[in-house]
Amino acid sequence: MTTAIDPYTLDRDGLEALVAELGQPRYRADQLHAWLVKGVDDPEEMTDLPKELRTTLAERFAPARPELVEHAVADGGRTHKLLLRFPDGEAIETVLMLYPDRATVCISTQAGCAMGCPFCATGQAGFRRQLTAGEVIRQVIVADAALRSGDMGEEHLPEGSPDHVTNVVFMGMGEPLANTEVTLDTVRWLNDPDGFRLGARHITVSTVGLVPGIRRLIELDLPVTLAVSLHAGNDALRDELVPINRTHPIAELEEVVRDYREATNRRVSLEWCLIGDVNDSATDADELARIARRLRAHVNVIPMNPTPGVQWKEPTAERVRSFMGRLEERGANATLRDTRGRDADAACGQLLASYTLNAGRRLPAAVGAAERVEQLRTSDGPDA
Ligand code: SAH
Ligand code: SF4
Repeated sequence: MTTAIDPYTLDRDGLEALVAELGQPRYRADQLHAWLVKGVDDPEEMTDLPKELRTTLAERFAPARPELVEHAVADGGRTHKLLLRFPDGEAIETVLMLYPDRATVCISTQAGCAMGCPFCATGQAGFRRQLTAGEVIRQVIVADAALRSGDMGEEHLPEGSPDHVTNVVFMGMGEPLANTEVTLDTVRWLNDPDGFRLGARHITVSTVGLVPGIRRLIELDLPVTLAVSLHAGNDALRDELVPINRTHPIAELEEVVRDYREATNRRVSLEWCLIGDVNDSATDADELARIARRLRAHVNVIPMNPTPGVQWKEPTAERVRSFMGRLEERGANATLRDTRGRDADAACGQLLASYTLNAGRRLPAAVGAAERVEQLRTSDGPDA
């Protein structure tokens, strides 16, 4: 028996090899490709292919089309959370955010995440499995098709929203660079001039800082926006907030970010989830500003979304203000981001929060982090 293939894992050469193997002329690969680009992956719907070929392909292709099991709307129709379930029962979330000038889809690359950042809902649920390239790409296809067809429900679409996806951010569930080849395949599909034709600048890959993955992204040689989830400006605190820091500490991360910027000529973003009394002090702002200046990076500050089972909270409005003020004072280029989708559990880091609650799982990594961070801060002394 031959193994089932997900057609979205095949590039042009792969499609050509497949049609050749099936004794078909080469132009069939173009036809197949054209359907896939349109989001049609069911061979039975590929009406310009001969019946016999459609049947053969239907036997060869793995059914990976997700079912939309829930659609939650928040922010007066500007945020849509889609809960998608794959044929094996695994479910993931995709969030569509609408702005007057763009429609951004936030996609997941893994079911769960193994990185164990203690403030993140996805991290709390642990790792379930990798998604395939087809499963990642289909999230964009589902969101795009819904926008184009108006299936979101007129009443849920703010007036003047774009009718197709204009931006893709890898900021959903999972760590994109712990599923690197799939992330790269997805970027290639999205960027392909014969594919989805999304400019590389409209694609953002957010990573916790997996250095080998960032090096692979450099080799891809496309000016994709790189967002690095920094959250702490010294290794002692970052070891707790972003445990992978123990493997790839800040100095190593800075080096690869510099290389990324030089190779792509793109300014890198540093993400900072601002957590009350954890990384919101003047010293934290100073450390962040120093790194941002060195890297000529742009800082995005996102006040922490409350996560079930996690005692940390977002800082007070006053702390947020003084943190932003201090960054400015120290010459860092920073933006305070809104926390979209809170009322539908659709904000970044909130994905699968409800599942986590139901399953009642906690990652051991998260359990001791709060106490250790507390110790770190008291040993440093209060500072602002
Ligand atoms: N794994 C990748 C991408 C997914 S997380 C990464 O960590 O970068 C997407 C973003 O959401 C990250 O910047 C992450 O730090 C942030 N995030 C996670 N939990 C959050 C929370 N509770 N509140 C606000 N942002 C959060
Ligand atoms: Fe994974 Fe990103 Fe959450 Fe960390 S913040 S646990 S890397 S999804």
